[in-house]
Amino acid sequence: MEMFTKAAQELAQKFVSFVLSLQFWDILDILVITFLIYHLLLLVRRSNASRLLKGVLFVIVALWFSTERLKVFNYLLSFVVEWGVLAMFILFQPEIRRILEQMGSSSIPFLDIFKKPPVGRQIIENAIEQTVSACGDMSKSRTGALIVFERHIQLDDALRSGTKLDAEVSSELLKNIFFVKAPMHDGAALIREGRVLGAGCMLPLSRNVNLSRDLGMRHRAGIGMSENSDAVVVLVSEETGSISVAVGGMLKRHLMTETLEQLLRNELLPQQEEEDGKTEKRRGWLALRGKEKKDGENRDE
Ligand code: ATP
Ligand code: MG
Repeated sequence: MEMFTKAAQELAQKFVSFVLSLQFWDILDILVITFLIYHLLLLVRRSNASRLLKGVLFVIVALWFSTERLKVFNYLLSFVVEWGVLAMFILFQPEIRRILEQMGSSSIPFLDIFKKPPVGRQIIENAIEQTVSACGDMSKSRTGALIVFERHIQLDDALRSGTKLDAEVSSELLKNIFFVKAPMHDGAALIREGRVLGAGCMLPLSRNVNLSRDLGMRHRAGIGMSENSDAVVVLVSEETGSISVAVGGMLKRHLMTETLEQLLRNELLPQQEEEDGKTEKRRGWLALRGKEKKDGENRDE
């Protein structure tokens, strides 16, 4: 027992002297490496790349083992590694781009001068109001809809796959886009800065294998878009008329129009909400939670 406490004391002493010897640059070094490893692991998890990671680990171990022993094999393997790095950049180009975009979109006060001035609150409020009204009507008429609200990350790839528009958001326009017999009803409508920029856009499907079986392609595409970007996606089901919202890969289903409006306001008007005071915001979230319960909220991971 005494030996154990002594060992523990020694360990604690070593730890304290290690912490005291840390300098500013060491801490920064640790933070940077933690950040990189964290994002690498996230990337591996999100892109189902665990098999690829195993392959990379195998090559590293084989490389280490074969030095000085299997010379020709080692020589060949070093070629594989050299080209492998290049291949990784090509394979993970979308993921790397997304990480860089996310890093660029985090706010650095000095760089904020490059930011475009924010769109007027009125325009966003109008877009939300019109979308909610259209979704209410489409829910009643069982018209399928998929509406993407872009935030910081630009969704130019999706936009290019559809038909370009540039119009103020109105309930009539949205209902017209998703009208079953209209040529543009298939795919998603994309809203940037309070304007409908495109319709009939193709979205990436979700890679989540745990999604509920009753979710079809429309819902998988909506969730996929929210996994791949910071967009807020609104869905109306053609089969059930149910309204859902996907954010960050999570789907909130069976929303009432009031809840939809509150949710969109919280997601799309964040700064203003903060200006109104944090207590206001908290109260809003509580009210929203209460409503969701009544709606029979259902989250799918
Ligand atoms: P609903 O409840 O409305 O039936 P669902 O989730 O069951 O929706 P489907 O019935 O498979 O989905 O809906 C098919 C529609 O989803 C297509 O007609 C198309 O408009 C849309 N869709 C399917 N895949 C995509 C995609 N990758 N990007 C955008 N829209 C898509
Ligand atoms: Mg369906």
